[in-house]
Amino acid sequence: MSIATSVAPPSLSYELYPPASRDASESVFSTIAALESTDPDYVSVTYSGSPTRRAASLELIDHLIRDTRLRPLAHLTCVGESRESLQNLVRHFISLGVRGVLALRGDLPTKTDEWRGEFPFARYLIELIREVEAEHSAALAGGRLGVGVAAYPIRHPESPSFDHDIEVLLAKERSGANYAITQVYFQAIEYTNLVESAQRAGVTIPIIPGVIPLNSLKRLNRLASMTGVCPDPELAHALETADSEAERHRIGVAAAVNLARRAFDDGAPGVHLYTFNDHRGSLDVVEQLELPRTRAKVTRTWATRAVA
Ligand code: FAD
Repeated sequence: MSIATSVAPPSLSYELYPPASRDASESVFSTIAALESTDPDYVSVTYSGSPTRRAASLELIDHLIRDTRLRPLAHLTCVGESRESLQNLVRHFISLGVRGVLALRGDLPTKTDEWRGEFPFARYLIELIREVEAEHSAALAGGRLGVGVAAYPIRHPESPSFDHDIEVLLAKERSGANYAITQVYFQAIEYTNLVESAQRAGVTIPIIPGVIPLNSLKRLNRLASMTGVCPDPELAHALETADSEAERHRIGVAAAVNLARRAFDDGAPGVHLYTFNDHRGSLDVVEQLELPRTRAKVTRTWATRAVA
């Protein structure tokens, strides 16, 4: 079944975590160098509201801009943040040269409504980003920031239903989002359902599948607890019973390649690889997908150049 016809070559992007220590910095730098060779459309940098993690995100973005040919996509979370601090961060991103922001609510450390503050949902952050963008119109030469959002193939843990998630995605598009990246998922049909339901509801922005090559049961379980997405029992069993690291690597890569291929069959406009700062699995996925990688196609990347 084909959901949409993708005319441009698929986009390729990776997600990186800012390093938490000196050793981790060295490992992330070698990952960046390896990923750079595949000429991705952009590399996203995760964000957390804690001051240390925030500084690490900004440093990593600065490194990508100054020392590499990669375009960063800055994640930003809003829950519990003040308007002023969010405005200042978006201004700082613009001054660094960031042209793409992934607008997220962020996870709730507690379930109390009081803690949510002025920005309880990602939609309000998109509106704030558009306001700051307008202020910086001259610096941006009248251009726009590419604003991405999260989408959920499986119901968001706090959401009453999958249909509600689709309404939220539509609301985020109408607030100014240019594209969405999905949460991890393990069954190809879940991406198909998301795209079909979103399109039926009136969503028109590209929805990029987020895929992760997992090479251990420990990582799979950690991911499940971070995202609230149930681990796939078949993948869990295969990883648990594999008798070598090489076999676990092969299983994780094959599962990710299968999900990405099935998403491309559904017309997916690209693939976003969650790397966990380990480039080996992602590089093998890219190699097996045989994505056409040429600099010419980056002119249509939604992530860092808005199409709106
Ligand atoms: P929202 O779209 O605001 O939705 C949050 C919840 O509120 C959902 O249950 C939704 O149904 C509900 N909701 C939204 N609007 C309304 C409304 N008007 N009325 C009622 N209910 C509503 N987290 C980080 O901390 N740092 C990161 O760097 C990060 N990167 C991510 C990257 C990707 C690609 C993805 C998919 C997730 C990422 N996350 C990150 C996790 C994300 O912050 C969480 O999933 C968070 O719980 C929800 O964020 P959101 O932007 O989807 O929120």
